[in-house]
Amino acid sequence: MKKEEKFKIAEIKVERPVKKGLREFDDLRDAIRSMEEHNSGFYFRPGLNYGVNPDPATLNKISKIECNCDEFLKHREEFLKTLEIRFLCKHVATKLAELTLHPVILLLLLNKAKHGRERYVLLSAEEPIILGFVSLAKLKWINVYHFDNKRDVAIRFSYNPFENKWSYGKLPPDGTNIEHKIITLLRRTFLQIEKR
Ligand SMILES: [Zn+2]
Repeated sequence: MKKEEKFKIAEIKVERPVKKGLREFDDLRDAIRSMEEHNSGFYFRPGLNYGVNPDPATLNKISKIECNCDEFLKHREEFLKTLEIRFLCKHVATKLAELTLHPVILLLLLNKAKHGRERYVLLSAEEPIILGFVSLAKLKWINVYHFDNKRDVAIRFSYNPFENKWSYGKLPPDGTNIEHKIITLLRRTFLQIEKR
């Protein structure tokens, strides 16, 4: 964590209120700026081939996928090159969610199909646990995509780091550990200027 000491104080964060030890952002643009400024390795860019080796038939279906919306047309080339979810539109995400992919990737696609763009952070590569930051004005709820190795299922949870609570009280099996990791991650990213 020595790297943190090099970070400079950003003016914009000085004005943010702190709740439960975290600086609260009410505008995602500020939060994103802060993330980019303080943690260049913050974003995770999962691709459709995450955790699986798609068979030729699946790859063929992926390469033939089409949509006429501007968002897809704009990023189509990049998507075909990288297979990264971030380059998809919600329409294509719906279609791709029918393919044989890693359960956690299917869950990301389904959420994208319903709610649109999200930015991801890999919290743990082991299970894996992926955080999803929805592009809303407020950054209060974080999607926590959790893959259960034993049961071979992926489940989405929602966590509010400011209130330290889980949506509907539903938390992943080692939820307390995950909470701790999320808070640590957010502190590292948002709280560089905490006074001692
Ligand atoms: Zn589309």
